[in-house]
Amino acid sequence: MKEIYTLADLKNWEKTARNIDPPVRLAVFGDPVAHSASPLMQNAALHACAIDAQYVRFHIIPQELETALRLLPKLNFIGVNLTTPHKAAAHGLMDALDERAQRIGAINTASIDGEKLVGWNTDGFGFARAIRSEFSVDLRDLRVMVLGVGGGAGRAIAWQCALERCERLVLVNRALVKAKELERELARYFTGPRLLGPVARLETIPWEESPLRFQLSQIDLVVNATPLGMNQTDPSPVPISLLAPHLMIFDTIYKSVSTPLLRATADAGARGANGLAMLLHQGALAFEIWFNRPAPIAEMRQALVAG
Ligand code: NAP
Repeated sequence: MKEIYTLADLKNWEKTARNIDPPVRLAVFGDPVAHSASPLMQNAALHACAIDAQYVRFHIIPQELETALRLLPKLNFIGVNLTTPHKAAAHGLMDALDERAQRIGAINTASIDGEKLVGWNTDGFGFARAIRSEFSVDLRDLRVMVLGVGGGAGRAIAWQCALERCERLVLVNRALVKAKELERELARYFTGPRLLGPVARLETIPWEESPLRFQLSQIDLVVNATPLGMNQTDPSPVPISLLAPHLMIFDTIYKSVSTPLLRATADAGARGANGLAMLLHQGALAFEIWFNRPAPIAEMRQALVAG
């Protein structure tokens, strides 16, 4: 067994996999991929359900993605997860797409149906389930601000908020043009008559202190979907002085229990949660797609927490 496999291994799979038991039938492709926690929780799920298969990491660079994906149906794989930087590119390489994945423009999961690759995006649903489990609220009752809507995770989260018809959605991104573009895609979900006073139900704002300050007084949930906070020395994506006790803060980062944003959240007396629950639920949904049965959530969570 290797910690990380490569395209060369996949091309020579019969030989590489000859003595691997249980057989490798699932994988995650990423660049880098060593950090991925998916093998921990998916192998725990496979074990709990007594499925004779295992899930491994593949380091696949962007130029190798198409070749690697095309090999999977021939090698008896059940499915694959896609992580950074492959989510958008893989979307264009599928034979069929789930309707939601088609809209989002990125996938994090593929299932294999005969010779066909079918693309799915479970990040948005995973996010919605995480908000319910962490804060005991439904997205549709919330006024949400998403920071980092230019990336795969931020786009999936914003789409989920729109599809669940949240009360309000404010889009924030370093490259403003990407947020504006997403605003145009989502506009039709925010035409309904809700009485929210003078503020628009859907809007894009520049990442600047003054508009953030104004908007945060009209927001319940702030989501960080940028990598800011992966390093403990990163600045908080929201100026600390703007955090107030009425806010719920969801940081999609799951690498560490706390981030600069979550520490500031606690200091401000607000409620916060890291991305572990989203990671868990997006993984559970992928398992459900692959095996058409409920995922063993408790075992998956236990594996993530212990890992
Ligand atoms: P990505 O595609 O690289 O997206 C990055 C986003 O963050 C873009 O909107 C980008 O803005 C913004 N950004 C990057 N660096 C920034 C900086 N220094 N300052 C401000 N904005 C910055 O990444 P991704 O795959 O969407 O992942 C984003 C985050 O979500 C990561 O922290 C990842 O760990 C997390 N995530 C969590 C889960 C989970 O299950 N918990 C799942 C997926 C991802 P521009 O558009 O301006 O470049």
